[in-house]
Amino acid sequence: MEINITRVAPEKMKSKPVNEDKLGFGKLFSDHFFIMEYDNEKGWHNAFIEPYRPLSLDPSAMCFHYGQEIFEGMKAYRGKDDSVYLFRPEENIKRMNISAKRLCMPEIDSHLFMEGMQKLVILEKDWIPHSTGTSLYIRPTMIATEKSLGVHPSSEYIFYIIVGPVGAYYPEGFSPTKIHVSEELVRSVRGGVGFCKAAGNYAASLYASEEASKLGYTQVLWLDALEMKYAEEVGTSNIFFLIGDELITPPLSGSILSGVTRDSVIRLAEHWGIKVSERPLSMDKILDACSDGTLKDCFASGTAAIVSPVGQIYYKGREHVINEGRTGELTEKLYNEILQIQYGKKEDPFGWRVKISD
Ligand SMILES: *Cc1c(COP(=O)(O)O)cnc(C)c1O
Repeated sequence: MEINITRVAPEKMKSKPVNEDKLGFGKLFSDHFFIMEYDNEKGWHNAFIEPYRPLSLDPSAMCFHYGQEIFEGMKAYRGKDDSVYLFRPEENIKRMNISAKRLCMPEIDSHLFMEGMQKLVILEKDWIPHSTGTSLYIRPTMIATEKSLGVHPSSEYIFYIIVGPVGAYYPEGFSPTKIHVSEELVRSVRGGVGFCKAAGNYAASLYASEEASKLGYTQVLWLDALEMKYAEEVGTSNIFFLIGDELITPPLSGSILSGVTRDSVIRLAEHWGIKVSERPLSMDKILDACSDGTLKDCFASGTAAIVSPVGQIYYKGREHVINEGRTGELTEKLYNEILQIQYGKKEDPFGWRVKISD
């Protein structure tokens, strides 16, 4: 399928941010976006890159009522020599199609997805900020657009990709976070849609996040919904614990999002000779390891921050300090390694980096 490109008129181009220290996250969007349509007869069609604009949808469009909305989150990085890299983009494309399938939404041909995304990022190359840690955030999104209030899978969809510059996550260095274990509310349950990047999962997580935030915590640590016993994820990130010499992360049991960063951490740690286990880990075991000093490191992983150190866990009325509240050595090593691979500053033994522009 051909992607038609309509460029924004020069006088309508937005001014790009000058201060890269103040980019923040998800507030600024570039001049263009990618959009294509789907219906049951034609499949995906009408692929365009065109000036960024509001969407016009019928109030009965199904995405507004029954939650068929999925998305992805990835970044484009500007290397030292001005080349542009993506990091394992085929993993995000695969995951978007896994989400689509579970929510009865149409899958997207991976070549078309990649082509639309690459063309857009290259067109918006000047929007990619320069300082290390900053990047161009990429948000592929699919929504149901059939005009209908019947509960059934929509017969029409749009898929679009928007991009915008985002700031460095750690402009002043690491600061270990305080996390609050949610003992009542759950994010997802095995058999549900927790393994999908589906909008409803985030709506369902807000209440617990707000409560934790009011109490002074950065994130919620979610437990498994069946026994309320095992650690599953932190906020919208995966979670890792280094206990003794074993790096442990919960298994992909269906209620956990399969993070690209999670997989990269596992593969790097194994490459460094660390024993990595994907197995259930109960809060009791975590807190025992915390009090006997064998819990040496704990961090969350995700595209936004790469890794984020956890310094304190609140559970059952008590505060538990990890590694004296300091960032663990492994967290720091993983952060530096992945960052340098992403920005083309280090060799890439796994072939994760995809250069899309010189
Ligand atoms: C996006 C996300 C992650 C992290 O995935 P990455 O691919 O590493 O960015 C983890 N958990 C949830 C719930 C997420 O939405």
